[in-house]
Amino acid sequence: MDQAERLLRPLAGQVALVTGGSSGIGAGVVQALAAAGAAVAVNYASHREAAEEAARRIEAAGGRAIAVGADVAEEAAVDAMVAQVTERFGRLDILVANSGLQRDAAFRDMSLADWRKVIDVNLTGQFLCCRAALRRFLAQEERPDLSRARGKIICMSSVHEVIPWAGHANYAASKGGIMLMMKSLAQEVAPQRIRVNAIAPGAIRTPINREAWETKEAERRLLELIPYGRVGEPEDIAAAAVWLASDASDYVTGTTLFVDGGMTLYPGFADNG
Ligand code: NAP
Repeated sequence: MDQAERLLRPLAGQVALVTGGSSGIGAGVVQALAAAGAAVAVNYASHREAAEEAARRIEAAGGRAIAVGADVAEEAAVDAMVAQVTERFGRLDILVANSGLQRDAAFRDMSLADWRKVIDVNLTGQFLCCRAALRRFLAQEERPDLSRARGKIICMSSVHEVIPWAGHANYAASKGGIMLMMKSLAQEVAPQRIRVNAIAPGAIRTPINREAWETKEAERRLLELIPYGRVGEPEDIAAAAVWLASDASDYVTGTTLFVDGGMTLYPGFADNG
């Protein structure tokens, strides 16, 4: 691959798995990785049609993609998913562990089921996917012609890995957990040239937070938290994912990249405090 081709399609020849690729941020990441040249496995839990449609779009544009169903909280399903991706594309180079959900409640009213569901999908799900990807990276032939790193993992975190969030203790705990899981894993596998990073999105326009941007009044209140003055789009996160997956970020590991329009600049302190 010459220099120009590498700049245009930095992930050419590589294989990516995006969990929760059937909606929102994951769907944006899927399209961007494919445009950057990767073959992409689009994971879904319930929205099979959306994942299959995304894969069809990529194939119609000349790329390679498949839809793969799996509940990321289920160990056997995750291992089977990675085996399926490897069988189809021959290897795995990039994992974007993105699946996530919310079950919001005031702390005193939060059920154990709601606590467990969020931790199971958001945190244990990322553990299972990272472990399965890591085992694959270590088992397969190294391809330095494709990438300087032996494998790349991107964990989808949130600004709530650092910003406390009343009424969402399960979600904030899951994201705080992702942060230290990511860093501990990055420390462990850096000597094997496997890079592990996270992206912390701010408020991104997707179904998960529809009530926060759906009406003009809700969006106005949300914008008070965003110094840059706009709600984020999945493409904002997708661009960061392509960079973290590519050799352009080859010396970056164990870090969280905040893509939040300044939300973690705590704008309430700009003229107060
Ligand atoms: P979304 O549109 O609701 O998408 C969530 C995705 O997760 C869907 O593809 C869904 O699959 C998948 N999923 C849910 N449970 C799953 C399970 N058990 N196994 C496998 N996949 C499962 O939400 P989003 O905003 O794109 O969120 C994506 C990630 O970004 C999440 O980790 C979220 O915490 C994080 N994030 C979002 C924002 C934001 O403002 N939107 C901000 C910070 C962080 P199906 O639809 O097929 O069931």
